[in-house]
Amino acid sequence: MRAVDIIIKKRDRGELTRAEIEFFVQGYARDEIPDYQASAWAMAVLLNGMSVQETTDLTLAIVATGDSLDLSQAVPMAVDKHSTGGVGDKTTLVVEPLVAACGLPVGKMSGRGLGFSGGTLDKMDSIPGFRSDLTTEEFITQLRSIGLVLTGQTCNLAPADGKLYALRDVTGTVPSIPLIASSVMSKKIAAGAQAIVLDVKIGVGAFVKNLDEARELGTLMVDIAKLAGRSAVALLSDMNQPLGYAVGNALELKEAIETLHGSGPKDFKEHCLETACHMLTLGGVTDSVKAARPLVETAFADGSAWEHFRKLVAAQGGDVAYIDDPSKLPTAPFIETIISSRTGYLRELNARTVGESSVALGAGRATKVDAIDHAVGIVIQHKVGDKVETGQPLFTIHANDRDKLASACDRVLAAHLWSDQPVESLPLFYGVIR
Ligand code: URA
Repeated sequence: MRAVDIIIKKRDRGELTRAEIEFFVQGYARDEIPDYQASAWAMAVLLNGMSVQETTDLTLAIVATGDSLDLSQAVPMAVDKHSTGGVGDKTTLVVEPLVAACGLPVGKMSGRGLGFSGGTLDKMDSIPGFRSDLTTEEFITQLRSIGLVLTGQTCNLAPADGKLYALRDVTGTVPSIPLIASSVMSKKIAAGAQAIVLDVKIGVGAFVKNLDEARELGTLMVDIAKLAGRSAVALLSDMNQPLGYAVGNALELKEAIETLHGSGPKDFKEHCLETACHMLTLGGVTDSVKAARPLVETAFADGSAWEHFRKLVAAQGGDVAYIDDPSKLPTAPFIETIISSRTGYLRELNARTVGESSVALGAGRATKVDAIDHAVGIVIQHKVGDKVETGQPLFTIHANDRDKLASACDRVLAAHLWSDQPVESLPLFYGVIR
């Protein structure tokens, strides 16, 4: 078999066999197939799609490139969540400790920023010392001891996804339903989660733009989970405007900390509560999402969710002084707040433009090896439907360079569209696939 023939077959809209998919994925994982061929293949998949069978074969081939954890030796039920990626999506930072505080262990493998969307690990890396490169033994030991793990793909779980994910980020091959589904599900299956809540983001700031595609992606992932003997639900959630207010690594971490302390943006908190309720229900702690509500509200109110977050940071080597006093976290040298020059109702706040502006400020990567600046980003002040008066603050840019600051100001200002008439706010969720 030759990689080039597999690329040509997909370019010509052929259906790849399991053997061809395994050959390609294993070859890429072992560095026998170079990045340029994997890029061409990923682009062919993006343009021509994959059948359900091909996507399932791809998922299992990615899992087979590394270890698979069996968490039943560590905990009776391991639950996990995964978002398909959005702007301002710092949900994991709040939901993971919240669910653990309600007595359900969460062992999670997260990713870095991808395209215009942020990555959980990049946010956690704002904390000096925090290690996201746990070994398999460390993963299991920590899950057993504190019921909470948040790591990257370094413990040889689905290593082919780690490589492909970084490649897709810089080759324009992220928004492909089979590539997203196999990427998400390979990580979840390899990391041993028995119950998985999938957060499928929809809108201009997501890789999936409309409800039909989101249903297709959600159904595909739930089906792959079933085939792998796991249970899953997919929440379909809005990503037309950023989630919460902060976009950028340390800024999002600060917002997550505020939320764990009981304040924080209303939409973000509600999104976290609802996601946590689904995790507790799928994990068998409660028999309905409604019944889970008082549990998660108590875990917020009595500080136990926050205490679990602190435990997680400490267990993975992070300096808790930085989360106890978030003013110690990286701060950008140039901070500017833009004021509204008009009165009106906010009709649109384009999440994608905000995400891209944040990446351009240095919060994300343009090439695989780029370093990111944890301090930079954007804090918006309003949500779609809000009435804003002339002279009210609109948003704040945190930058490390004056030119980047000016360019981000222009772009984010243009991302705000107005109406003179009242505008409906956007829903948080569009539905659930079980
Ligand atoms: N999240 C992932 O883990 N993979 C993708 O491809 C997109 C979002």
